[in-house]
Amino acid sequence: MKAAVVHEFRKPLVLEERPVPTPGPGEVVVQIEASGLCHTDIHAAHGDWPVKPTLPFVPGHEGVGIVTATGQGVSRVREGDRVALPWLGYACGECEYCTSGWETLCERQLNTGYSIDGGHAEYARSHASYVGAVPQNVDPFEAAPLTCAGVTTYKSVKLSGARSSDLVAVIGVGGLGHMAIQYARIAGCTVVAVDLLEDKLQLARESGAEHTVNASEEDPVAAIKRLGGADAAISTAVAPKPSEQAFASLRRGGTLVLVGLPADNQMRLPIFETVLNGITVVGSIVGRGVDLQEVFELHAAGRTHVSYERRSLDSVNQSIDDLEHGRVPARIVFDLAADDRTEDLASHRA
Ligand code: NAD
Ligand code: ZN
Ligand code: ZN
Repeated sequence: MKAAVVHEFRKPLVLEERPVPTPGPGEVVVQIEASGLCHTDIHAAHGDWPVKPTLPFVPGHEGVGIVTATGQGVSRVREGDRVALPWLGYACGECEYCTSGWETLCERQLNTGYSIDGGHAEYARSHASYVGAVPQNVDPFEAAPLTCAGVTTYKSVKLSGARSSDLVAVIGVGGLGHMAIQYARIAGCTVVAVDLLEDKLQLARESGAEHTVNASEEDPVAAIKRLGGADAAISTAVAPKPSEQAFASLRRGGTLVLVGLPADNQMRLPIFETVLNGITVVGSIVGRGVDLQEVFELHAAGRTHVSYERRSLDSVNQSIDDLEHGRVPARIVFDLAADDRTEDLASHRA
């Protein structure tokens, strides 16, 4: 099978042939149809974070495909099922986090595309208990971005505590941000979206944001304060400064939800303002399997829209460059069958 492999941090990924994996007990093997490129894949390939993946590895935690083999003891899914392979690839199921609905905090968790080889390959092996079932009426190319960008921002809106009369600021309108806007709108909130790029702000308006602010042209804090200040601010941007701006744009009693994970790991958090203004700061990491099912249900009901561009996995390095520079609609989704189809077409023509 073909796989995009990180051999060295900050070096281009290598497209190479690898053996198709076989499932161990409790595992499944999935033939990937669609695999979304999350900004986390770039952090992984760069070794940006304090905990680094072990080299070599295959990134990708928005893989969607068809189960082709099941290991011993697997009853939850069957061959032929369409499933999604999320970031939470495995959790112990026994610890106090796992047994209290916080498996995303399990200390023994394994992460797809980080500590387990991920979806940027023609096949991936996964723990059956942690794959998500993709409903029949959800397109695999839309299911892919929902598997991380969707579930993460759905959860972040839940954790923000935002209610229908609230103003929610969404900072960064990329893969995550354009979904955050939609979930905040579904919660009944008014949304102000902030980005540096005009076409991202256009995407924000199409995604339901009532207000947009171009932070390269005006101070987003002043602009959000003019609207009365945000009850909740969700920061998905890949730098510390926008998270500091998100904090400063809050009303008294407001909540800052940190989601973006920049390589530069420190932000300035003023103690006096946090205390006197009664601010809550929350870290939000992906979402649970049940959150993903809710995300798929909302999409199946036509209540969300995924903005994406389909590309061949061969474009992986160019795609990473384009994502880093904002030259993508919201998500790039690799089409793992694209090359087969090109080959079919070529042999058909020949
Ligand atoms: P993305 O590149 O698609 O989106 C980032 C957006 O932020 C872009 O539109 C960019 O123009 C905008 N931006 C950059 N600087 C800005 C600034 N100063 N002000 C406003 N906007 C700015 O990335 P993504 O895939 O949406 O991921 C975003 C971040 O979230 C990454 O750091 C990723 O690792 C992280 N992430 C976290 C979780 C989690 O569970 N917490 C899950 C997935 C991704
Ligand atoms: Zn992700
Ligand atoms: Zn656990």
